[in-house]
Amino acid sequence: MKAEKRKKTVKTIKIDVDKCNGCQACEVICSALHAAPAYSSNNPARARIRVIRDPLADVYVPVYAGEYTAAECAGRDKYTIDGKEYEECAFCRASCPSRDFFKEPDSGLPLKCDMCESDPALSEPMCVQWCLADALTYEEREEEVVEDVTQADIEIGLESLANMHGWQKVMDTVARMSKKG
Ligand code: SF4
Ligand code: SF4
Repeated sequence: MKAEKRKKTVKTIKIDVDKCNGCQACEVICSALHAAPAYSSNNPARARIRVIRDPLADVYVPVYAGEYTAAECAGRDKYTIDGKEYEECAFCRASCPSRDFFKEPDSGLPLKCDMCESDPALSEPMCVQWCLADALTYEEREEEVVEDVTQADIEIGLESLANMHGWQKVMDTVARMSKKG
């Protein structure tokens, strides 16, 4: 495996939970942007951001979809905020076998926030643009990183997805994503 040093743009969305009012505009626009074709439909179940809600306690916590993991973790987290106990794993970013969060509802394939990568690039991710409460703030910075990513790593990731969902589903999703433009 070969390690390489290079400059990387680190993209961050800062989340101010105190400002979030649970309107779900971020979920709607994310799912619309990622529909095929783009903006042809919206379904928050397909969003790469989900807002964990407790309206009675006025607590709303946006959580972004992170990495796919083939196996659930050995332990679970349970949060209590303002006296309200949330479900185990509620704030976890992973798409994992133990729950339906951050999975494409039809295919079951994992969803991951891609920071609205597009060509030409957006000035800010769509969820940030649509958050009128200013709960989401976008920042970029340059960092030097050492990376070990190899072709073999990519192939192992694809193979584990295929083992779980079948090659046909993986290929169909890749084809849909490439058509999205
Ligand atoms: S758009 Fe902003 S205020 Fe509305 S749910 Fe999302 S993060 Fe919260
Ligand atoms: S940054 Fe883009 S892909 Fe990520 S949750 Fe926001 S709208 Fe969705």
